[in-house]
Amino acid sequence: MLQSILYSLATVPLFASRPFLAAFLTALLASYGTHIPWLGDKDVIVALSQSPEWFRSFWCLLALAALATGEALSAKHAEVRAVMEELDSWVKSAVALLVALALIDKQDAETIKHIQHQGLGVHSAWSLVVAGATWCAATLRRGALAIVHEIDDHDDIGLQTALSWAENSWVVLGVFFFVIAPLVALFLSLLAVAGMWFARRWARKQEEHSRIPCSKCATPVLPHAMRCQKCGQPLEHPRAVGVFGQPKAKESTDLAQQRFLLIARKRCPVCATRLVKRAVQQACPECRTVTFASLREFEEYRREIDSRLPKTLLVCLLFSAIPVVGVIPGVIYYRLNLVTGFRGYIPPVTGCFARIWVRFVHWGLILMQPIPLVGALMLPLMCWSTFFVYRRALNGSAREALPALPTAA
Ligand SMILES: [Zn+2]
Ligand SMILES: [Zn+2]
Repeated sequence: MLQSILYSLATVPLFASRPFLAAFLTALLASYGTHIPWLGDKDVIVALSQSPEWFRSFWCLLALAALATGEALSAKHAEVRAVMEELDSWVKSAVALLVALALIDKQDAETIKHIQHQGLGVHSAWSLVVAGATWCAATLRRGALAIVHEIDDHDDIGLQTALSWAENSWVVLGVFFFVIAPLVALFLSLLAVAGMWFARRWARKQEEHSRIPCSKCATPVLPHAMRCQKCGQPLEHPRAVGVFGQPKAKESTDLAQQRFLLIARKRCPVCATRLVKRAVQQACPECRTVTFASLREFEEYRREIDSRLPKTLLVCLLFSAIPVVGVIPGVIYYRLNLVTGFRGYIPPVTGCFARIWVRFVHWGLILMQPIPLVGALMLPLMCWSTFFVYRRALNGSAREALPALPTAA
């Protein structure tokens, strides 16, 4: 009983990170743990092996393995993740609750008798505590990860992939670590949750610190905004827009471009607030400015991105002169420079299809690499095909969503 409670509590951060993977590993240890030579006689394993029959059944293991695989795959896709994010905390605490109920409540006939005499009280209460803790940890995790999403929302520089691998391995190692040293694991779990809390607070402070008061109404305004989000007062010297949408230290040199640069980094063209939806037309959460009021406004923006194509292709060609390793900075460069500006506004389902197309084309290109000229032009061809696929996808979405001319307001 105590071992099960300890296990459920210490694994809270694991369930907040990859609930199905954590549940699968728990069920796996419960079913076969006692057969592992050195670990088999640990208290935790013995406690887990007394979990109810259904939890240790083949079908339960199979279902959890399938869900864990789906979970690992979906964590890699920005579009799928965006859909799942809405349900995130609920799914995670539900999985943690079910596993905790299986481990804590119905350990053996003895416990059931106990429950019958004393009511559901203590046992269910512990499971609810675990579920509640998972909910909090999942919310904290989302807040901490928002920093990474902010920097690399579409995995342009590979940050998302690296993080996804780190999380998968930390869940696998975490479960085994708990079996070996339960109390140390519980302590490390608390440390992990505290770490996430500080990371989130740091990110919020960072953003608040960078704001400057509006000269008219003193509202804190982002330093690379065009106008104050509250009173519309223009900023005298807006700062330049960074590659990741952050304000740079130096002033913006081309104010005519500022609007497009902000949109390309998925920021409101007026107040520089981050736009969160994956849709062509969306109102800024702060100042209610609509990103593209009409198809004409959208086309103006698209032409701006189009005009970056020749230079990007040229840079890609130069990168491809560097054998083998040149492809990595090349891909990062064209993604950040061209593709991000399109991809952020494509609705999730269309975005998934575009992604599959890009994959397909790139595999074709890799297969043709032995052909001399194609090999040399590989990187520019990858750049051009990615650009073309996402441009087409966004064009289609824009035609569906936007009126040809601005509606008379
Ligand atoms: Zn103001
Ligand atoms: Zn705005």
